[in-house]
Amino acid sequence: MRSAMRPHSAAAALALALLALAGAACSDAGGPEKEPARVFVFAIGAGAVERSPGGEGRPGEALTLTAVPADGWRFERWSGSLSATANPLTFTLGMKQTCIAVFRPIDNGSQYVPGASHFGRNRYTEYIPGDRPLVISVPHGGELKPAEIPDRVNGETTQDGFVIELGREVAGAYGASFQGRPHLVLCHLHREKLDANREPGEGAAGDPFALLAWNEFQEFILVAKATVERGLYLDLHGQSDDEARQQLGYLLSAQDLRSTDAELDQGALAAGSSIRHLAQASAVPFSRLLRGPGSLGGLLEKLGYEAVPSPQWPHPGAVPYYDGGYNTQVHGSRDGGTVDGIQLEATRKVRFDAVARGHFADALARALGEFVSTWY
Ligand SMILES: [Zn+2]
Repeated sequence: MRSAMRPHSAAAALALALLALAGAACSDAGGPEKEPARVFVFAIGAGAVERSPGGEGRPGEALTLTAVPADGWRFERWSGSLSATANPLTFTLGMKQTCIAVFRPIDNGSQYVPGASHFGRNRYTEYIPGDRPLVISVPHGGELKPAEIPDRVNGETTQDGFVIELGREVAGAYGASFQGRPHLVLCHLHREKLDANREPGEGAAGDPFALLAWNEFQEFILVAKATVERGLYLDLHGQSDDEARQQLGYLLSAQDLRSTDAELDQGALAAGSSIRHLAQASAVPFSRLLRGPGSLGGLLEKLGYEAVPSPQWPHPGAVPYYDGGYNTQVHGSRDGGTVDGIQLEATRKVRFDAVARGHFADALARALGEFVSTWY
């Protein structure tokens, strides 16, 4: 019987970490036509990936990948450079490709007790299971800077201040207005060590311990999502600029959001959004799900917090806008599944001051609870 996720999946993840490091093929001297293809193979969840033929291939040659799930898991799809569900999958090598096998837990996560913390290795990651169709993850709030993981030198390393506190307060406040609690997944590693909202090559920067924590963080989200038939995944962040409004990301650009409601409701933008499943399952026009009174932005606005998109602010205008990162792409419904995703970039004003944060946590919990009970 599968007991939690520690024994087999940590080993599987570490094996994958080493596989991935070995997969970063070194290019020996020679003409460009002799350069080996750089294929980075990863897994989300517990499982392994077999390559055929083994060894490094050349661009233009065929490669077959076979995803082999661990006990208690099933293969779902390929992500990264490839978007496919076939297994095995044969494709033509390019110069550089990232292939991510996405595995899902088969069981319903019943070994997890709602409200009790479950930790990954060295407490770098934490999962507090819930019992509502709402999963909140916090990838950028961590403080830990262990010496065993080298500092990342490429990419963003700024922490999102007080987002872990905000996430915990939202989970706590949820029960005050609604029954039950959301699932909460936290990364406690500082972003200088791991960016848990990037593809693993960039996020973990080739370090096996960082990659293991990355895998655990992703795995906790998958375990939480597996308990949810239909529901919402929220990736919680904090803006480093002092912006006026809460920003909600649906994988639609600021330009997309300048579309009229009629344009939004034609279907193409909904199909490319992180709430694709909700848009297709609901008779309500996409524009209303996105920025009507019952949208997450609309519900926050009703509670006194300006948000974009919302009825008052249908698009972000000229300010920098975050439309959703890696986690929203992978864990929302754009590429499949019945759990929708939204990225929230909370302003500094609602995070750094404890009293203001408490008020915002109450409002966000109420908005999320209303959103979930209305749409799922
Ligand atoms: Zn962030």
